[in-house]
Amino acid sequence: MSDRRDDIRYELALASRMLANEGVLDAFGHVSLRHPGDPNRFLLSRSRSPLLVEAGDILEFTLDAEPVRASTERLFAERVIHGCIYQARPDVMAVCHHHAAAVLPFCIAGVPIVPVFHLGAAGGASIPFWNQHDEFGDTNLLVAKPEEGRSLARALGPHVAVLMRHHGATVVGGDLRELVSRSTFMCQNAVYQLQAHLLGRVVPLTPGETKLAGSLNALPNVVGRTWEYWSHRLVEAGRMPPRSAVRKTKSPPARRSAAKGKAARRKRTRS
Ligand code: MN
Repeated sequence: MSDRRDDIRYELALASRMLANEGVLDAFGHVSLRHPGDPNRFLLSRSRSPLLVEAGDILEFTLDAEPVRASTERLFAERVIHGCIYQARPDVMAVCHHHAAAVLPFCIAGVPIVPVFHLGAAGGASIPFWNQHDEFGDTNLLVAKPEEGRSLARALGPHVAVLMRHHGATVVGGDLRELVSRSTFMCQNAVYQLQAHLLGRVVPLTPGETKLAGSLNALPNVVGRTWEYWSHRLVEAGRMPPRSAVRKTKSPPARRSAAKGKAARRKRTRS
């Protein structure tokens, strides 16, 4: 059980580095996973650039974006994005928030991203905009307050992504692999859309094409293939997370009886 818990943290660190290696995340941005054993919690790293995240950096949060265990670590200010979306969307198992260079021109100009090639259909037929200023006036643009997170989740609605004016994007997935694939292809789609616009008129996929291609893109063998490919690119870049990086708790419990220790271990592995 403990091994499985470490594996989940490792997978999340892998996804984080993969998205950074593919240019979706940079010094900022973050990716989270709803806790596989408890839908009322999610896993997210401490505040750290995503390319550097290790399994031992992954912490557990309540859906109010509070750490389950008291922590002295610095936390992401924007973790409410994740908590509020998990609260609003029971179907969502993974969330990525990013400021990718590919999508920022669309966020700045307010031009919708539309699916322009088959893999770009992973972003759905339309991606809504959210403008923090509409509801909250002048801010530093970080989504740090619960009411800001809830507003963003409302704008996301039933969609798979939301574009945040002058800020970036937030993407959701039914699992980690789908999320990584969707986030990456949504960025590629944005690049192609802008380049095609320079060449001539951009005609998006039809709603029928978007639906059919989107379903195909979500198949386990397709997201499994992209996961393997982007993992390999991480290996080639020498950027894989270390396997032995799960940090020990800072203050191990004081000596206790064998029975108590067993019960505590059971409790820890459940969470
Ligand atoms: Mn941000």
